[in-house]
Amino acid sequence: MGQIALTLAEGIEAKGGKIRYGARVTQILPARSGMAVKLATGETLTAKRVISNSTRWDTFQNLLGNNKSSWWEKTWFDRYEKSPSFLSLHLGVDRSLVSNVQDCHHILLEDWAKMEDEQGTIFLSIPTILDPSLAPEGYHIFHAFTPSWMSQWHGLSSAAYEQKKEKDAEQIIDRLERIFPGLSKAIDYQEVGTPRTHRRFLGRVDGTYGPIPKNRPLGLIGMPFNRTSIPNLFCVGDSTFPGQGLNAVAFSGFACAHLVACSLGK
Ligand SMILES: Cc1cc2nc3c(=O)[nH]c(=O)nc-3n(C[C@H](O)[C@H](O)[C@H](O)COP(=O)(O)OP(=O)(O)OC[C@H]3O[C@@H](n4cnc5c(N)ncnc54)[C@H](O)[C@@H]3O)c2cc1C
Repeated sequence: MGQIALTLAEGIEAKGGKIRYGARVTQILPARSGMAVKLATGETLTAKRVISNSTRWDTFQNLLGNNKSSWWEKTWFDRYEKSPSFLSLHLGVDRSLVSNVQDCHHILLEDWAKMEDEQGTIFLSIPTILDPSLAPEGYHIFHAFTPSWMSQWHGLSSAAYEQKKEKDAEQIIDRLERIFPGLSKAIDYQEVGTPRTHRRFLGRVDGTYGPIPKNRPLGLIGMPFNRTSIPNLFCVGDSTFPGQGLNAVAFSGFACAHLVACSLGK
């Protein structure tokens, strides 16, 4: 999976670019010749153009100090809201449990009325059905995930957080027993990720999966392209057209690179 990012990184470095890993931006500032970013280390980097790949909530409410002064930015915040985050279970499962299963993807929903509820729908992927080499011999990988909101996990003490992770994971496994009887006894390895995990390791506000339209009619068509109301500041990724998902953000990156290159006379 990391190959796409690695190949892009090689391309950037081959063209003389420098990548600073683990460099957290805390502020975006105007600068005399363009824009600047301030890092958590206190260092300031200036550039003719700055492109933000963080969400619009992070960029405008956090990095720019709650800057929603333009009509365009206000409209975006009116049109879009955060979709939930996820509770994710990564399981190592004895291969004999699924010896007759051919399908990689499964969806479990016991009650249609609960489809959009917190932990209502369970999605399950078993990638080792397609590529057994991903797990040690004799095992399958189960990735089970279900929508979950930060509000359910926020403010818990370490002990309460660990307990909730255990309890919620157990409930998901119990429900999956309907499709895979004997699952709980066949688990050899278990990791649980929560909205807090997504916030911490993916750097996304509230661990959100990304923006979704508040009202359907405009859908993702109302998403902005890569320019922002601030000169020399561009945005890229799932807060821009055409929205969430790897294909969509790859398009957004391509479009943004083209736009910035043109703005620099390339
Ligand atoms: C659990 C999960 C499963 C998914 N499954 C699929 C799938 O099967 N198919 C699919 O198409 N899509 C899937 N998606 C959605 C897809 O991953 C996203 O839509 C896509 O990655 C968004 O790309 P992005 O570049 O906009 O943001 P991100 O991928 O979030 O990239 C933003 C980057 O900016 C960095 N960053 C943020 N703030 C700062 C800061 N202040 N300073 C420095 N760096 C910062 C972050 O660390 C991150 O590396 C999934 C998402 C999740 C969470």
